[in-house]
Amino acid sequence: MGVVKANAYGGSDIEIAKYLQDLGIDYLAVANAEEGALLRKNKISTPILVFSPQLEDLEKLFEYNLEPAIYNQTLLDKSLQLALNGSLENYPIHLKFNTGMNRLGFSIQNVDSLKKVFPNQFLLIKSIYSHLGHSQEQSPFNQTLKQANKFNMIVSTLIGHIKPKPLLHLLNTSGIFNFPHLQYNMVRTGIGLYGFANDPLWDNFLKPVMKLESKVIQIQKVHKGDYVGYSKGYKSEKDARVAIIPLGYADGISRHSGNGRTQVWINGSSASIIGNICMDLLMVDVSDIECKEQDKVEFFGFNQSAQEFAENSGTITYEQLSRLGPRIKRKFT
Ligand SMILES: *Cc1c(COP(=O)(O)O)cnc(C)c1O
Repeated sequence: MGVVKANAYGGSDIEIAKYLQDLGIDYLAVANAEEGALLRKNKISTPILVFSPQLEDLEKLFEYNLEPAIYNQTLLDKSLQLALNGSLENYPIHLKFNTGMNRLGFSIQNVDSLKKVFPNQFLLIKSIYSHLGHSQEQSPFNQTLKQANKFNMIVSTLIGHIKPKPLLHLLNTSGIFNFPHLQYNMVRTGIGLYGFANDPLWDNFLKPVMKLESKVIQIQKVHKGDYVGYSKGYKSEKDARVAIIPLGYADGISRHSGNGRTQVWINGSSASIIGNICMDLLMVDVSDIECKEQDKVEFFGFNQSAQEFAENSGTITYEQLSRLGPRIKRKFT
């Protein structure tokens, strides 16, 4: 299953979903109805699991042939009702269990009441799944084994009530690397598709697919003692050259990336982001490097990984990628 939620982790969900569909992927996953409907409107016909549907979105899900994760009784009741009202048979759904992460999901105590509802002619359970809270830990890891045991217990109690046999899945990207014996018959990979596995060891096996580039739109000469940007964010200790770049916090370059904490690359050299990052612009000290207006500026990609940029910005690759805003033009090659 290829996970393309949040615009494919800040990339380009329609293009990436199409690409995965052409490669013959079995399943796609998104977070909500809107994301799924967008893919359907763009000729994606691969089955799509919706991880976190809300009650009021179920009609829309059914309308676009999206497959909800059913994680509580209210969702199950409403799905049954909708299928009944629409004279639908075997509408595909997925049962999501909480086995210890304590986020979304039925608990093991709900299994008995679920056994009473299935099988029925309205809803078809395509898969049973759960999600690990600690897949980034190396195996063996007690909490993960506990989660897997609980998952096995749930599956063995329910499986007799489900025909045809549902798919079973537990692992995200880190799980695929760290707990390969828990793959069952599907895995859900998101960040791995985009080149990261949250561990330098595993990252070596993957190739990042996204690059974030901007350009210099002006160069300012400042004198020793001058301030740069808002609120005394930077006071120059020298005569300096400052490059102005048209990306800001509204584009997902957080203020935590400013004030010297992160670097960008221009003409093969690194340069610090200085001062407070603005909404639409940021400033870089280019005193020591050769550059001019219109030169390319790399935030991450070839010279520096998104992981490194994220870490220096006080966050993780997932957040840095997925918060990249809609003003950034996506180019898919
Ligand atoms: C986002 C998500 C995934 C994908 O996780 P990665 O770490 O990006 O591979 C898998 N399963 C669920 C339930 C998710 O929410």
